[in-house]
This record gives sequence, C-alpha cells and structure tokens, in this order.
Amino acid sequence: MIEHRIQLDRIKPYVPGKHIDQVKQELGITDVIKLASNENPLGMGRLAAEAITASAAYTHLYPDGHCTVLREKLAGYLGVTKEQIIVGNGSDEVLKMIAQTFLTELHNVIIADPTFLEYSFVADLMGAEKLFVPLTDYRHDLKAMAAQIDSRTKIVFVCNPNNPTGTIVDSTELEWFLGQIPEHILVVVDEAYYEYVANPSYPQTLELLKHHPNLMITRTFSKIYGLAGLRIGYGVAGPEIINVMERVKEPFNVNRLAQAAACASLDDHEHLRRSIAVNEEGKQYLFQQFEMLNLRAVPTETNFVLVDLERDARQVYYELMIRGIIVRPMDAFGLPSCIRVTIGAMEQNRRFIHALREVLYADRN
Ligand SMILES: *Cc1c(COP(=O)(O)O)cnc(C)c1O
Repeated sequence: MIEHRIQLDRIKPYVPGKHIDQVKQELGITDVIKLASNENPLGMGRLAAEAITASAAYTHLYPDGHCTVLREKLAGYLGVTKEQIIVGNGSDEVLKMIAQTFLTELHNVIIADPTFLEYSFVADLMGAEKLFVPLTDYRHDLKAMAAQIDSRTKIVFVCNPNNPTGTIVDSTELEWFLGQIPEHILVVVDEAYYEYVANPSYPQTLELLKHHPNLMITRTFSKIYGLAGLRIGYGVAGPEIINVMERVKEPFNVNRLAQAAACASLDDHEHLRRSIAVNEEGKQYLFQQFEMLNLRAVPTETNFVLVDLERDARQVYYELMIRGIIVRPMDAFGLPSCIRVTIGAMEQNRRFIHALREVLYADRN
C-alpha cells in the first residue's frame, strides 16, 4: 500500500451544493431551481458572453499565463499596479496559493466559525493548525481573533461579508484589527461579495493596502459577474507578496475564456447595475416573507440569506428539493437549524417562499 501524507487524514472532501441535473435525475423532476451556491440569477452579462464567443476561436492556443491584459485592466480599475495582482482559477485557487506560499506544519491560522470552508481546507492541506474563533451575533469577533494570535500564527482569514451569515465587519473594526496585527502575519480579507455591499461603513480595503503591507484582499468573478462556471478570481496585495506567490502558481492556471469574459465584464456597468437591483428587490421581498412566517433571518449585505427555521433544517432541505428547489442546509457549518438561500430572480424567490410555506405548515400537525 502506498501511504499518503498524514495531514490528509484531517480533510473531508468538500460537499458542494446539489447540482441541478443531479436533482432532476434522482427525483425525476424537470423544473429545478438552484438557490444554493450564491450564483447570479441573471447569468453573465452580454459583454462577457460576446467575449467568450470571440475568444472560443483561439481555444487551441494556450492562454496568457500571466493574465496580462486582465491584470492591467484590474489595476486601472482598482487603483493599484498590476504587480499587486494575482489571478487564480477561482479565488479558491488564490486562497490555495496563499497557503502553499506561506504555511507549513509549524504554523497556525486563525479562522472564524462558522465561515467559508475553504480556509480550513487550505490550512489542512499544508498541515497547519487551525484556531477557530466563534462569531458573535453572526459577525466576526475581531477582538477575540486578535487575542488568539501566538508565536506560530501565520495567517488570519477575515471573510467580509461573511459566508454563510452575510454580515460585515466595519471599517473601524477592521482598521483597529490591522493595527493590532504584527507585520509578519498575513491578514487575508475575502471580499467575494464586495459588489453587493451597500453599507457605507464597509471598509475600503484597497486604501488600507497602502499602510498595511501584510494585508491581502481576494475577490471573484463568480458571484455578481456570473462567471462561476469559468473559475476566475484574484488577489490584491503588496508586490512582494504577489511576487513570491507566483512561484507556486501553475503556468497556465486561468483559461482563455475566463480571462476574456472577466475583462469584458469589468466594462459591463449595466449588468452590474441590474444584478444589484434584482438582488435588492429579492432581498426586500424575502425579508418581508420571513417576517410573516415568523422566521429569524440574519440581515445580509450579500446575495444570500441565513435563515433559522428552528427545526431540523436538513429535513426542510429535502422537502424543498422534492419541490424542485435546492437550498443549502447549514449542518456542515454547525448550524443544523438553518438554511442559506441565494436571493434569486423574483419568480424564483416567490416559488421558494411558496414551497417553504407548504413545507413548514405541513410540518405543524
Ligand atoms: C463563492 C465564494 C468564493 C469564491 O469562489 P471562487 O473560487 O472565486 O468561485 C470565495 N469566498 C467566499 C466567501 C465565497 O462565498
């Protein structure tokens, strides 16, 4: 028998949101909607679609391994230099490259609980220890996270807004936090939902980069830009950090279609505007309905909502699935009475609420 690395014993394979085709096949239903992975119900924008078509003619050629055009464009758009940007096969890959660049078995990382599961995964992959700090009121407790730091701490992950709660830490909290963290510890702020946030107290982290060389920001084209299926996201940090990270990067990590679509989508202001408007309308509707159903939903800055059903949420998840609606049960995040639901297009939201009502009332006998 070939023995694998002992560190891998800690890793449980990731369980993604159920796939639409999987549910159609298993349950024999044709009309299925997925509100489980925070995808944009409008899909990608027109400009991205056109760019993909144009770029498809060159599929036989390797893509630009440095994503030069996209990095230059992002640099202009973000007000940084292209040497401060690294692009990944999804921001998941950026998180993995961060871990591969900085973590060993001798280090620990600080992670909120519950939060996005990828931080724990990439730490495990490198054999680093994980120190979990519970959320307070569904929000990162940055004071408690700062207090966890010890001589082995190498990275602190801050998911802002936090997945699965949709909450943010504000600029005062984050600036205080960065002031506490020694410069040999990397602070990774994951802003996958940046474009959805409307709260004026949300930190403008790109500004903070100037004073904090140990800060790294990650963002993605998977959520508001609607490119989840192409896998493209990026990290922004000081040029020294990006420079060392490039050593662990695969030569052609980001495919041609993704690069073209990402570039084009940065110009598609109309698609961004519509996506935000659809999300706001859906958010208002869902919160109204949750209130009428007497369900506690955590106020969100994102395109998803954490709802406490005060019963076994996995059971409700199955009942919704039978009705053709896929949501995310939260037991894997330690919240067995909660689901996370993506804010969809209005007809999807209505259908979800209709089914939820049916399931909850059928339950009450
Ligand atoms: C969806 C998500 C990501 C993104 O992933 P990609 O790999 O870019 O698709 C990153 N962080 C959080 C918190 C997310 O919810």
